[in-house]
Formats: sequence, C-alpha cells, structure tokens
Amino acid sequence: MSRRRQIYEGKAKVLFEGPEPGTLVQYFKDDATAYNNRKRGTITGKGVLNNRISEYLMTRLGEIGIPTHFLRRLNMREQLIKEVEIIPVEVVVRNVAAGSFSNRLGVPEGSALPRSIVEHFYKSDELDDPLVAEEHITAFGWATPQEMDEILSMSLRVNDFLTGLFFGLGIRLIDFKLEFGRLYEGEDMRIVLADEISPDNCRLWDVKTNEKMDKDRFRRDLDRGEEAYQEVARRLGILPESGPRDLKGPETMQ
Ligand code: 5GP
Repeated sequence: MSRRRQIYEGKAKVLFEGPEPGTLVQYFKDDATAYNNRKRGTITGKGVLNNRISEYLMTRLGEIGIPTHFLRRLNMREQLIKEVEIIPVEVVVRNVAAGSFSNRLGVPEGSALPRSIVEHFYKSDELDDPLVAEEHITAFGWATPQEMDEILSMSLRVNDFLTGLFFGLGIRLIDFKLEFGRLYEGEDMRIVLADEISPDNCRLWDVKTNEKMDKDRFRRDLDRGEEAYQEVARRLGILPESGPRDLKGPETMQ
C-alpha cells in the first residue's frame, strides 16, 4: 500500500504525486460512470485490467515513435507517468458509426465510415463535453494550430496502428478517445499522448459476432461487463495470472 499525496481524483482514476519531480502515479479504479456521471457503478477488476491494457498499448505505441506520458507499471493498479499539462480537448477517432455520432447524424450504428473521422470535444463536465470545431480550440487558446496539426497526425497514426493490432486479435476498433498533454523539458515543450487507452475509452467489437467488448456493456446495461475487459486482456496476452482481483487501493494522504 502506498501513502502518497493525492492531487486529483477523476471518475475512473486518481493521480498521486510521483516519487520524483515531474512524475505522477496514476491509479486505476473499478468505478464506472457514464452519461457524464448520471449512471454510476463498478466493474470488478476493471482497474487492474485497464492498468495492464493501457500499459501494453502505450508501450507498443511508444515503440513506433508516438511519444506518451507512460513510464512504467508499478503494481496491479498503479503506473508511473510523466506529469503533463493536459490539453482540454478530447480527440475522438471513428472508423465505424456508433454512439453519439450515430445519434447526432442519424447514421445507423455499425455503418463503416468512408474514411476515418476525427472529432473534438471540449473537456467540461458542466457542459457535458460539447462537440467543438478547431476554430473554437484555437480561438479560445486551448491549443495552437500547430499543436492541433501534431495532435491530428498522431491520432491518425494511433488509429492505423491500433486498428491493425486489434484486427489481428479478431477485434474491430470502432472508435476511441485520446487526450494529449504538453510535456515541458527545460526550454522545450512537446505534445505527448496522455490519459489511458483501454476498453473504457475505445469501442471494441468482436469481428465475427459484433459482440461489444468495452464500456458500452456497462453504459447500455448489457451483462458480462467484467468478462468483456478480461477477454480483451486475454486476446492481448496480458491477463494477470492471478486474475484481475486484488486488494483495496492505496491509503491516501490529504
Ligand atoms: P461517443 O462520442 O460516441 O460517446 O464516444 C466515442 C468514443 O470515445 C467511445 O469509444 C467512447 O468510449 C470514447 N469517449 C468519448 N467521451 C468519453 C469520455 O468522456 N470518457 C471516456 N472514458 N471515453 C469517452
């Protein structure tokens, strides 16, 4: 059990001060929320699995030259990350119509898109993360045009890589959400991939059966939510041998 100063608590994760300056510890909870906190619950073992899944995917992305905040996994539920200044924009990449895209545009869920579509949402719980254009992002100074160019090209590379990786495991990558941050190193600043990549922020469907293997099982009251996360980890070859269950989280120092 760690005793670290908590610096932020989100819906699915907690951030603690890291062991060295410029680092943070990211702790993965089992809590699940949807529809901007209007639906709440837990998915047993989710935090353990997402910690592993995100470690695996961030590591693979690092290997192909995508800079990320990930340093190393510390234990079942925690990973060490670089401290970054989060850009308040959620980047959603879509390959197949689903979720809010289908609702907004009346495109039936499951329709393949003619090409990948990238959307931006302003990170704001009060406003329910509204869809915004690059115009809003640059006019309000949330990110510069140069930063948005870099974010777009990184997001498309991430999409190409993850689409292929999941397809090899019999999983269709329908869509996913990314977050980026500014990493300051002396005089230099660069944009890095932050947050997590897991079934909490990706839609993953089985190629053969179209079965949902992601947080939509919770959002839409489908059964076997726990198994879906386990199955993704199993296909990635990273299911913890002891299973996803572990003890309670760390004691926090306020
Ligand atoms: P949609 O806009 O259809 O609700 O979501 C598109 C994709 O981005 C889905 O894979 C969804 O999981 C992810 N996503 C969008 N907003 C959020 C968010 O606020 N939190 C999480 N965890 N994922 C999100």
